[in-house]
Amino acid sequence: MTQRDVIAAAEIARIPVQDADGGVIGMFPVRRIYCVGRNFADHAREMGAAVPASSTERGEPVFFCKPASAIVIDGNVSYPPGTNELHHEVELVVALGRDAGTGVLPVSEALALVFGYAVGLDLTRRDLQAAAKAKGLPWDTGKAFDQSAPVSALLPASQIDDLASLDLTLEVNGALRQRGHLHDLIWNVADILHELSKLFALRAGDLVFMGTPAGVGPLLPGDQFRAALGGRLLLEGRIARPAL
Ligand code: MN
Repeated sequence: MTQRDVIAAAEIARIPVQDADGGVIGMFPVRRIYCVGRNFADHAREMGAAVPASSTERGEPVFFCKPASAIVIDGNVSYPPGTNELHHEVELVVALGRDAGTGVLPVSEALALVFGYAVGLDLTRRDLQAAAKAKGLPWDTGKAFDQSAPVSALLPASQIDDLASLDLTLEVNGALRQRGHLHDLIWNVADILHELSKLFALRAGDLVFMGTPAGVGPLLPGDQFRAALGGRLLLEGRIARPAL
């Protein structure tokens, strides 16, 4: 016999899905958010991390997670508590539309799982992340906080046939802060899904934040941000004063 919930179930985060004309054709319910650290050599270098000399020496990717409830779809982000150093990281976001089978997902089959793509910000409390790194402690307080995952609408993968040729850009108050080319990813989308499948059961509804290029830096209350993936996807928003 099914027991009824004793409290109201929390709402599931949902992301609008756009067609090529920009019209909303549905909503994408989010299950989990995986994130990749150090996936652009220029960013790994600016963070003081070792950079692989070649793709055969790239080792294993760094993964961490955010809660699905960290998603923001209207661009309105409140400056988070507990930090004096909120940083932006503009990233390609991959959305899975199908479950992976059992076992390790072959690289050659990985893209068949992809529903679509978005552009997002992996917002980071850099001071807390740096303190955790220095002590070998988990990154959760630096990465997995409320409203730490603003994203654009999703564009179905069928609308993007040249992903690797696209640029990721981020402007803050009209000034260019970050620009990266997706062909410069150390691990591409198929590589990352293959690696994640060694560790987690990938399911429809999962998102993957693919890592940021160089140029990460501070966001302050009142700042306006504008992230773009080629000319296809746009995320505009602002950082509001802390909600006290
Ligand atoms: Mn990141």
